[in-house]
Amino acid sequence: MAEQTFDIVILGGGSGGYATALRASELGFTVGMIEKDKVGGTCLHRGCIPTKALLHAAEVADYSRESSHFGVNTTFNGVDITAVTAYREGIVAKKYKGLQSLVKARGVTTIIGDGKVTGPTSVKVGEDTITGKHLVLATGSYSRSLPGLELGGRVITSEQALTLDFIPKKVAVLGGGVIGVEFASVWKSFGADVTIIEGLAHLVPNEEEVISKALERAFRKRGIGYKLGIRFQSVTQDDHGVVVTLENGETVEAELLLVAVGRGPATANLGFEENGISVDRGFVVTNERLATSAPNTYAIGDIVFGLQLAHRSFQQGIFVAEEIAGLNPVVIDDVNIPKITYCEPEIASVGLTEAKAVEKFGADKVSSYDYSLAGNAKSEIINTSGSIKVVRVKDGPIVGVHGIGSRVGELIGEAQLVVNWEAYPEDIAPLIHAHPTQNEALGEAFLALAGKPLHA
Ligand code: FAD
Repeated sequence: MAEQTFDIVILGGGSGGYATALRASELGFTVGMIEKDKVGGTCLHRGCIPTKALLHAAEVADYSRESSHFGVNTTFNGVDITAVTAYREGIVAKKYKGLQSLVKARGVTTIIGDGKVTGPTSVKVGEDTITGKHLVLATGSYSRSLPGLELGGRVITSEQALTLDFIPKKVAVLGGGVIGVEFASVWKSFGADVTIIEGLAHLVPNEEEVISKALERAFRKRGIGYKLGIRFQSVTQDDHGVVVTLENGETVEAELLLVAVGRGPATANLGFEENGISVDRGFVVTNERLATSAPNTYAIGDIVFGLQLAHRSFQQGIFVAEEIAGLNPVVIDDVNIPKITYCEPEIASVGLTEAKAVEKFGADKVSSYDYSLAGNAKSEIINTSGSIKVVRVKDGPIVGVHGIGSRVGELIGEAQLVVNWEAYPEDIAPLIHAHPTQNEALGEAFLALAGKPLHA
């Protein structure tokens, strides 16, 4: 039974945990980071990175099929999932090695084991007690299911979907949010017959309606099926497949059912409430400075209600390290965090939707401009269409940017600066956007909002 003490103890070594550790060690703190599996967490091993490897393979498959459009002769001979797996695993392994070296180089002590909070800023790992002057909770999230829907067998989550050693011929996806549409897109490119079932009226229901509808059109064109505004009633499975029965009695038959109905906070049985850390519907309660109800204890990442994104976790990790150091970092506002839905076509957004802006400022105070990416030279060259919608307060700043189109996510950096700095279209319209780029679409939208449209 050993006792270890640090300035900061971190429970969970995923995006949030390791970002805290890296920044805290830079600031001169001693750091003990407890991780029960692999440093890097969901994002590196089961989320962002491996799914993007699959999406890239999917994109290559699509280009290979369509290469004659560009005047290039190739023969598409299908997708070798064993080779795709090797490619995916190779990328994760390389990044994991890099991260381990970085964590070590910064002098962070990584403690591998399952931790449980046992006292104020104290965590038990096996027989050992690890105590910090400060404790940061960063235990992440898990794939949720729905009442009456048991996971297992042919009813899978994103974790099993990632590591399938075959391409399903026919697959059903329950949930048309970010994870659901991402896998639907990959599987379709790999040759599967895909049907998405979404209880709300649109795919990606948290996005601008115009964007959701554009995705629906694009998916229809790609042959991805979807059933909207309908809930599942029951699921049965046998050796051959699953049958999903919907509330109207309709059935969807498939080889597999991916359940992608959101992620719940991983906070159960970790000693949180017993030690004065308040939890509400599973999420750790924090103030805007990410302090919990227990002294010197903070929570970050997916266990804190709000956007469950790796870059939010990174920023919250940096925030907490600086907060402990007394540097008074700027409070993080979820509204201004960029979001990307990675599928084909991609979706990216930051700030308020038009409806939210109207709610906040009043209908007469909001205007928007929707610029078609199809008018843009580079987009035509790379064979894509899509749009960028910019929302502004009338005679005021830009408060939201929403886009759809191949690789539109690469535009979100500029959009994020504009929204976070509350830029006025009149001030940024003179900024020159290189031609031909997709990024010009943003410039064109700013010009139009400033009352001097160019190509529109
Ligand atoms: P995690 O990364 O989950 O880390 C938590 C860590 O805590 C884990 O390593 C876990 O093992 C450890 N842990 C838990 N309990 C204990 C314990 N008792 N003792 C010790 N260790 C413990 N986000 C994006 O921004 N972009 C994307 O493209 C993206 N794609 C995604 C795709 C999928 C399929 C999924 C599932 C998620 C995706 N996400 C994406 C979300 C992103 O992965 C999460 O928001 C992010 O990982 C959350 O970071 P975290 O530190 O809160 O938790």
